[in-house]
Amino acid sequence: PTFDTMGLREDLLRGIYAYGFEKPSAIQQRAIKQIIKGRDVIAQSQSGTGKTATFSISVLKCLDIQGLLALGDYMNVQCHACIGGTNVGEDIRKLDYGQHVVAGTPGRVFDMIRRRSLRTRAIKMLVLDEADEMLNKGFKEQIYDVYRYLPPATQVVLISATLPHEILEMTNKFMTDPIRILV
Ligand code: AMP
Repeated sequence: PTFDTMGLREDLLRGIYAYGFEKPSAIQQRAIKQIIKGRDVIAQSQSGTGKTATFSISVLKCLDIQGLLALGDYMNVQCHACIGGTNVGEDIRKLDYGQHVVAGTPGRVFDMIRRRSLRTRAIKMLVLDEADEMLNKGFKEQIYDVYRYLPPATQVVLISATLPHEILEMTNKFMTDPIRILV
């Protein structure tokens, strides 16, 4: 298996190889093709399996731009992280400028939505990484708050090391006919 046969753009492939990846990990082989097909995906996987690059590559592939992270170095992607405890003004400035990808903690992301700085009408995909950790940290309400503002057709990808009852409840509410991948 190679990245070359996954239908990725040349500039994204350059980013992947320049970043030092030679071939896709097991989760990348199985999940990327489903995510870029538009399917809702539940990936049960731990840190260290290549899960972050799985959704990063998939998001970059799905971006509607002519052209996150170092993987997107050749694509001219605007990417910003909205993190609780950091300067709010900086988030507002970056969001007003316009971003292709917004990462962040649930509370700050919802704060930006409520202020209308993060406008949700054109959002295509929601990635919930470390879903079980977010619930353990008490972010359940904020995740539901964010979800309520998203367009009904938003594609959802959820990554979690474990799938306790509360996570399955979330997948039932947020996802349509999800594919479940265990690595
Ligand atoms: P993660 O599972 O996201 O915590 O990633 C674990 C580590 O694996 C990170 O340091 C990544 O940079 C690295 N990694 C992810 N995908 C690949 C790949 N296809 N080849 C080599 N290293 C990778």
